[in-house]
Amino acid sequence: MLNRRSFLKTSLTAGAAILPSGSVRRGLNASHPEYSVPVDAHGSAVEIVTLPQRLASLDPATLPWQQRIRRVGQTNMTEYDGAAMNVEQWADYWHATKADIVFVSVTGILAFYPSKVRFHRHGKFLKGRDLFGECVSAAKKRGMRVVARMSPDLNWPDALAAHPEWAMRHRDGSVQHNNEDPRLFQTCMFSSYMDDYVPAIMREVSSLYDVDCFYTNGWPPLGSLPDCHCAICSKLPPSDTPAYWRVFTNRVLELWRKYDVIAKEKKPDCFFFANSGGNVRGGPNLNDLGKVSVWFQADNQGRGYGDPAMWGCSLQGRVCNAVLDGKFAANVTAAYSTGNPVWRNVSKNPAETRMWLSETLAAGMVPYLHFVGAENGFSEDRRWQQVGADYFQWTSQHDAHLTTRHSIANIGVVIGQSTQLLYPGPASNRSRAYMHETTQGIYLALLQGRFAFDFVHEDRLDPEHISRYRALLLPNVAMLSDRQCQQLRDYVRSGGSLMASFETSLYDENLKPRADFGLAELMGASKAADVVGTNGNAYSARIESVGTPQPHVLLDGFDKTAWLAGAQNRIPLKPIDKPLLTVVPGFVHYPPELAYPTQPHSTEPAVVLRESGSSRTVWFPGDIERTYWLTGHGDLLRLLHNAIRWVSHDERIVHVEGPGFLEMFCWETGPGYAVHLLNYTNAAAQHGWLQEIDPLGPQTISLRVPSGVAVRSVELLKAKQRPSFSVHEQLLQFTVPALADYEVAAITVM
Ligand SMILES: [Zn+2]
Repeated sequence: MLNRRSFLKTSLTAGAAILPSGSVRRGLNASHPEYSVPVDAHGSAVEIVTLPQRLASLDPATLPWQQRIRRVGQTNMTEYDGAAMNVEQWADYWHATKADIVFVSVTGILAFYPSKVRFHRHGKFLKGRDLFGECVSAAKKRGMRVVARMSPDLNWPDALAAHPEWAMRHRDGSVQHNNEDPRLFQTCMFSSYMDDYVPAIMREVSSLYDVDCFYTNGWPPLGSLPDCHCAICSKLPPSDTPAYWRVFTNRVLELWRKYDVIAKEKKPDCFFFANSGGNVRGGPNLNDLGKVSVWFQADNQGRGYGDPAMWGCSLQGRVCNAVLDGKFAANVTAAYSTGNPVWRNVSKNPAETRMWLSETLAAGMVPYLHFVGAENGFSEDRRWQQVGADYFQWTSQHDAHLTTRHSIANIGVVIGQSTQLLYPGPASNRSRAYMHETTQGIYLALLQGRFAFDFVHEDRLDPEHISRYRALLLPNVAMLSDRQCQQLRDYVRSGGSLMASFETSLYDENLKPRADFGLAELMGASKAADVVGTNGNAYSARIESVGTPQPHVLLDGFDKTAWLAGAQNRIPLKPIDKPLLTVVPGFVHYPPELAYPTQPHSTEPAVVLRESGSSRTVWFPGDIERTYWLTGHGDLLRLLHNAIRWVSHDERIVHVEGPGFLEMFCWETGPGYAVHLLNYTNAAAQHGWLQEIDPLGPQTISLRVPSGVAVRSVELLKAKQRPSFSVHEQLLQFTVPALADYEVAAITVM
């Protein structure tokens, strides 16, 4: 095994020797330093692999109209807006922001037009006014498209009295009501409410107005499954089971397709879409949803108590990219105050709003700004308006560079949606938050290592979707079908590499436990006993190769210690030959007199490594990603980074070097490439909201463009600068001199 530091030294020397200054093509007004060998956050040299060949060029005019939408606006109408809303003022604002499309409320809870559909109650301030129609006309007059927004999730007592079968029921048969306004009952998505009432409203709207598409808010549920005990649902499998999830997904798709047909009755390019989001949990099976959806509405409006990390929006974007094959996604940014408590009609911190919009763009989605209520001069609180207008107007100058084609990444992270939704965590830690913590742990570690990664849905493990990745990561993807396990075996046999942890593949797609991991043979890791949790002091990992001259890459950076932090939970594995790390079982934490290992040495492996040809696999028996999220322990971060480096052969496809904590995305675009940098170096990175920005120093970007592709220019879209750049053997390098909250380095090629 090559020693990293000596490799770095050799590369630097070799780099200098083979690089006469004349061989470096320089940008105009070049002041960029000579070619430098890229190194990672730990100082180890990385190899920059060549980007894939560029996609065939595309004429945007040939795309469906929604693919050309770049800005979405919504003033979410309240009942009082029937009396108070100034439609001209509303339309002028969104038009001035250069919004391409606006959401206008039809609803289903309260009609914003003189609806004749039975039980479509008119808002009490409407008084015969056609607010919906006025808004549609005002938007169309200004060249903006219109989404007809419905809400099929709630209705009133008169509807319930006539149609008791429309209601969701508790186990005892009582009606499920809205928690905040108990006059409203929750409608059941399996009932005729969805088959009859919603289509009646859609057809009425189509007959009266020129709308471009239909949308349902409040349905389907995000990130969780309904739990209804009405006459229909009582005959379905129990909620929160894999069988129910399939029935639920099928019903969502059935209604989606039905509504889409209705939407197209008047105009063939009209369509239906429903609320989505829920990050890695989703609601319906996201792979199936990706097939029917032409507009993925990511209802992921801001940080809250349950999901307090700053990257909540970009994480959602990676989920969209995993299933949409480049189709349209918009992420809703609340300009109002999300979280708990919430202020629906008060602006949030401008820096936080801007960061959420920037994450939206960076992750390849379309920014969408949302505020609730238009009363009294387009809301009592107007602070959000300038924030939104400035941001949207900036994006409008750069639509070509901000429109993404496909992501540049060499690592795939299998998200395991079924595990996220249905697996309850190990017996030692039953919690709905369990997988959330796992996802946050791997996400944070990947950001800190500045790896270029995509999310991969477990139903997309076919070569078409995964062969592009040097390595796949499986952070406790507990549920995998036999077929998915076989797909992963095929991937490794064809040269791919894997890193997996804890209960990965221990359950099938029905959450039925296996006697051993489905990937046991592939990974060389075999279960010896059930999960061991922590009571007191967690287990440690003993370095078995202390003192050997050339330790494994996995141990890089671990000096002067024989023990490393383990994890909170582990599955004991059967002994293997020459383990690199072994488990020192947990022991008493208090009293300290007893805080020593009763068994200081075991033959139980704390990691299992395999290498065959170019394939490398790493198996961690502990829930290492989640334990990193819970503790922030640097040993776990370094182990994860070393393992990811090893399985990816230290290859990078886009590399950003410099100080601070940031998130990076790289895209192929029409003009060339775009590297997006989001500065998360902030006291509010993991909790609260951004108040102010702590700028970062220079960031040097390296990527290797395909042969035959020449770089024409590099432009920093936020800083409005054109940095000098160098190209050596197709390796493009340039430096972003300073990073405030967000920067987009737009690379134009020829
Ligand atoms: Zn029901």
